[in-house]
Amino acid sequence: ELLNFNFPSEPTVERVTLFADVILPLPLPRLYTYRIPLEMNDEVLIGARVIVQFGAKRVLSCIVADIHENAPEEYQAKYILDVLDDKPIVTAPQLKLFKWMAEYYMCTIGEVINAALPSALKLSSESRIQLHPQYNPEEDELILAAQEEKIIYALQQNQSLTFTEVGNLLQLKSYHKFIKSLIQKEAIIIFEQISDKFSPKVVKKVRLSEHFVQEEGMLEELFNQLTPKPKQLDVLLNYLQRVPVHQDVNQNYKGIEKNVLTNNPHLSVSSVNSLVKKGVLEQFDQVVSRFPMDVEAQQLPMTLSEYQEKAKDEILGLFKEKDTVLLHGITGSGKTEVYIDLIKHALEAGGQVLYLLPEIALTAQIVTRLMKVFGDKLGVYHSKFSDNERAEVWQGILSGRFQVVVGVRSSIFLPFHDLSLLIIDEEHEASYKQYDPAPRYNARETGLMMAHLQRAKTLLGSATPSIESYYNCQTGRWGLVSMTKRFGKAQLPDIELVDTRDEQKRKNMHSHFSGKLLTAIEERLQRQEQVILFQNRRGYAPFISCDECSWIPKCKYCAVSLSYHKYNNELRCHYCGYHERMPHDCPACGATTLKSMGFGTEKVEDELKLMLPKAEVQRMDLDTTKAKNSYQQIIADFENGKTNVLVGTQMVTKGLDFENVSLVGILNADTIINFPDYRAHERAYQLFVQVSGRAGRKGKPGSVIIQTRDPLQSIFRKVRNNDYQSLYEHEIEERMRFSYPPFVRMIRITIKHAEEDTSENAAIVLAKDLTDRLGKQQVLGPEVPYIFKIRNLFLNEIHIKLPRSNTNLRAAKDQLSQAIFNLKLLPDFKGLRVVVDVDPV
Ligand code: ADP
Ligand code: ZN
Ligand code: ZN
Repeated sequence: ELLNFNFPSEPTVERVTLFADVILPLPLPRLYTYRIPLEMNDEVLIGARVIVQFGAKRVLSCIVADIHENAPEEYQAKYILDVLDDKPIVTAPQLKLFKWMAEYYMCTIGEVINAALPSALKLSSESRIQLHPQYNPEEDELILAAQEEKIIYALQQNQSLTFTEVGNLLQLKSYHKFIKSLIQKEAIIIFEQISDKFSPKVVKKVRLSEHFVQEEGMLEELFNQLTPKPKQLDVLLNYLQRVPVHQDVNQNYKGIEKNVLTNNPHLSVSSVNSLVKKGVLEQFDQVVSRFPMDVEAQQLPMTLSEYQEKAKDEILGLFKEKDTVLLHGITGSGKTEVYIDLIKHALEAGGQVLYLLPEIALTAQIVTRLMKVFGDKLGVYHSKFSDNERAEVWQGILSGRFQVVVGVRSSIFLPFHDLSLLIIDEEHEASYKQYDPAPRYNARETGLMMAHLQRAKTLLGSATPSIESYYNCQTGRWGLVSMTKRFGKAQLPDIELVDTRDEQKRKNMHSHFSGKLLTAIEERLQRQEQVILFQNRRGYAPFISCDECSWIPKCKYCAVSLSYHKYNNELRCHYCGYHERMPHDCPACGATTLKSMGFGTEKVEDELKLMLPKAEVQRMDLDTTKAKNSYQQIIADFENGKTNVLVGTQMVTKGLDFENVSLVGILNADTIINFPDYRAHERAYQLFVQVSGRAGRKGKPGSVIIQTRDPLQSIFRKVRNNDYQSLYEHEIEERMRFSYPPFVRMIRITIKHAEEDTSENAAIVLAKDLTDRLGKQQVLGPEVPYIFKIRNLFLNEIHIKLPRSNTNLRAAKDQLSQAIFNLKLLPDFKGLRVVVDVDPV
């Protein structure tokens, strides 16, 4: 397929020596320049991959960022070895974006490229083995062992094999000894080869051989022949049922997947094979897409209600003057339908659209909705996809096959070249920010830059906008459009607070459930309605403790207590993944009185099943959604009414749309409110409003029960009154008073070292240097964070507050880089790691 965009083609000047700056997939702070062999002048393209040698040993694939005539001054440029793509796989605006990300988030462009490209497009060199041309196995005096023979046969057939392939062939892990013996005999040679890991999906198919189709009467004869072989006849009939014989040969030649026949328990595999052997059926390979093809759009977008139509018109109106608009619509107001309508507009005008979502769990529902409207023009992109699937989406965008893409934060890396609309749904979500590894980017900010570079419009949407975004509307930089009603007859749910201390006194708590919440759940179950229960922690209990001696198991590598996971009877660290079996007795004093403290989603699920044995309860958290399609299954089961109660972590709070949910319970609101962070209030408000927003979305009245030890806190009043305005006013004033974003930009520097003292001393030295460079006001800390050790490294933090203006920001970042560079050179601080996080959340 042809690329339908014009990439600025370099003027091809014959016989002029050209150089290419390339982005190596390594954390290097700069681009490297390679010389283009004259005969490749026309072939090397900006945005395409080439192969170069880096250092003495490594052969790498990399992206060409620029082509020019200037030889590097500091070193002799090596030649480009090979060209991989005849068309760019990274577009011009993408390259600009990647450069911006590296600069803004203070990482290297190699790190950005590494995160951006699906592994399948990052070629790697691998060791392969090949039979030595002089080696003749027949002359080998030693008798070949059976396995050895197998390898040599495979080598003769395939020309070369990777070590993994050899391992698989031998079905052993320790094949090194074997390879060694072959090397000693000089039977094989080992060499490095660049391999393209992206492989198209091939399906084995069978079809009726041509002459049975074309020649009159052949089929009849075949039936007669097969009469004594009823099993084979069955296969044939089964085949013909699926692929009827038409005059049109091409039609016929589609064939069917061999699996369809061989997996059918009524048909015998050997009969299928016999028919192939007889030449009745023939086998062939077909390259297929990993995604549904030929999905016709089935329906138009829903007709917008009056207020949705009005919101849409306002948005389009504002887009004439502004690049960015925030849609502040309460939960259930029908923001998605407004997006869909706008996407349709954008597609009709010929542009591409990216629809960002904060969470995979959400994509399942949205994709179903969008697929109906946009058919196979819709691409989906998220981290549960395999490398090859991601590469296929990547190439599908380049080729124009996908015009709308729905995806999570990493979708901002995709190769759009003509983006006209970017939608950032649930824009307030912290999960748009990547913590680790670099680039530590926020897809919201990066998306805005991406839209800017492509001259696209951005629509952000939320029922609970981030303070920063709302502030941008207040200052007039962005447009603001509101929807204050729920769609149709639906109303916002009633929110009731339950004082758990009171309930405890009145002996009305059943473990972690108040009597009120339990009764409410039972009522919904009787009415065949559904319930969502939210608890902010996964696992069974955040820690356990000995009743006798107060011993608490801690992680070996981190300064945290281990969480108890009951389903596999394990203690697990949520920071490094370390796990051990739950001890039966206390390892400190031998007592058998180990008690679990606090509670997570697993315990909620467990207890509810005991208390309401008839209820079908399912849990959605990190532990239950590890498998590729598990979250889709959980959501489908809940949608179909197979489950009555869905228990989960913040995964259940975001954007999900279930018709039949009439009750939402928040089991413990207090841990959320009392989080030590300047955003704690904002976060708590967002979380409570969002999770409450899952109730009563389609006409049935909904209610919310929030359990707390302190129901008089002001945050609850705001949540109950759906009073975003007063939250915003309170927050923005505090942020101004204490200099927090959006009035400053924050950078967090984390210093890590295996020695506690070294970590602390380095932090002190760095803080001092930074104070000298930037001024006292700008530097906070060093401070030991609450969790002071992770993965055996001791942490210290420094926070930097910088002015908003871009010029100052750049200068300050330069100073910061310098200071870190100098710090790492000091002999006292060997092995020091410094992590810089710009706009931490
Ligand atoms: P939000 O994203 O604002 O929370 P949704 O877009 O999920 O809300 O809409 C809430 C519910 O109302 C959904 O089930 C949706 O299908 C329905 N809905 C919204 N707009 C329309 C419309 N114009 N016609 C029919 N149903 C609608
Ligand atoms: Zn003990
Ligand atoms: Zn740990």
